[in-house]
Amino acid sequence: MFRFDNTYARLPEAFYARVAAARVPSPRLIKWNSELADELSRERLQYTEEELADYFSGNRELQGSDPIALAYAGHQFGSFVPSLGDGRALLLGEVVNSREQRFDLQLKGSGRTPFSRGGDGKAPLGPVLREYLVSEAMHHLGLPTSRSLAAVLTGEPVYRDRALPGAVLTRVASSHIRIGTFEYFASRQDHENLKTLLDYTIQRHYPEIRGEPDAPVLFLGKVGRLQAELVSGWMALGFIHGVMNTDNMSVAGETIDYGPCAFMDEFSHDRVYSFIDQGGRYAYSSQMPIVLWNLSRLAECLLPLMPQDSKEAVPILENELASTQEFLERRAHEKMCSKLGIFDSPGPQDKKLVKDWLSYLERENLDFTQSFRNLAELVSLSNYPGWFSPGNELKEFCDRWRRRVMQQGLDPEEIKNRMNEHNPVFIPRNHKIEQVIEAGNQGDFSLFHEMSELLKNPYQEQEGFNSYTLPPRPEEMVANTFCGT
Ligand code: AMP
Ligand code: MG
Repeated sequence: MFRFDNTYARLPEAFYARVAAARVPSPRLIKWNSELADELSRERLQYTEEELADYFSGNRELQGSDPIALAYAGHQFGSFVPSLGDGRALLLGEVVNSREQRFDLQLKGSGRTPFSRGGDGKAPLGPVLREYLVSEAMHHLGLPTSRSLAAVLTGEPVYRDRALPGAVLTRVASSHIRIGTFEYFASRQDHENLKTLLDYTIQRHYPEIRGEPDAPVLFLGKVGRLQAELVSGWMALGFIHGVMNTDNMSVAGETIDYGPCAFMDEFSHDRVYSFIDQGGRYAYSSQMPIVLWNLSRLAECLLPLMPQDSKEAVPILENELASTQEFLERRAHEKMCSKLGIFDSPGPQDKKLVKDWLSYLERENLDFTQSFRNLAELVSLSNYPGWFSPGNELKEFCDRWRRRVMQQGLDPEEIKNRMNEHNPVFIPRNHKIEQVIEAGNQGDFSLFHEMSELLKNPYQEQEGFNSYTLPPRPEEMVANTFCGT
């Protein structure tokens, strides 16, 4: 059984609305993540598929849960929206596992809440399958992320541009506290609840700074480090979140709110996948400045909680942001260097290597993921192979690169193996996800199951799944991914 301990639901009422999940006509389990379930519960859950479908569609309440929809605000594409909140999600509660780790259990697509505004609170199958695959892949690729415990069909259509099968995703995160949660209270000048939120968040995620007089700035630093670590990890994987609004940025530093996100195929600094991101605000390379922009919004929220007056407090917060920026740039560079086989301290000349390699990929429209894997093959070859385009530019790069990686005094085979630990073979490619969704809409989940198995070992070659390693053919190209609504 899950052991629930719902601390968020014991916060003041301004933090959430109590709501029950909507009933659905005929829930059917698509996927149960039993490995994750084992990590969350004290002993193996003994539910039948029918019971799982009932519980994780919202038809039946798990004992000990206390469902609430959380209030938050946020900057969406740069504009402040004072009231967002869980419009199609419901926090069932927090479960505590045998190692005393605490996780939020949340249903997504479980019906309307007081925060739904014009929306129906439901989720079509497509976004549920997408989030399941991408969040689990992110976890197995090694980055902090919300995870997916279950996907259930509701047996009820959801109306978008057409009728689609409805589904509910159960997601698990270390919390759902966002920068936008701080903005919710700060914008209302509700400093009492803002302080309650800060204390609660510190207690939950950063207990080591509890009671410190300068806790607000220490908190900014902690969140900044984790978000910088996360976004530099996205950059290294060619991941584009797509909607880095402040309401989609967790203060626990996990990837949350998978909507129109994608792993890049052909490399471009300016790549955008989301059709709602017309201005390219959240393009691949913009993710670094944007994470800092978002953290500045968090810093503004923390200003009234600083012990100093604002004239003194502003430069303290700004200093912290400047040091986060330095950290972000350093980590992004180090991660790119590891992908290139540079494992000792990267020096200034290595910046040029990274830049030249990425410019080459961009100019030649090469696949980001495959190209790093291919490059690793070249460490130990004395001649360049046939697929290698014979341009002088690449040869010049490779000569320089090989000299650099060989300086480390490592065996070429070891360099290759270590590079491969940073360069996945398998990523959840967008066109493959689209094929999974199309089949799912027809009631066929075999591709979904195949892909989710495969993505459990993304860094290992796996026989027979070559098509998952390739970029899309022209007829398979997906120009946009659509918002998860
Ligand atoms: P997102 O950009 O997907 O994170 O969502 C932004 C806001 O819109 C959040 O407050 C969501 O809860 C809300 N929202 C998105 N889709 C729906 C929906 N189908 N029904 C109600 N609210 C929604
Ligand atoms: Mg969101």
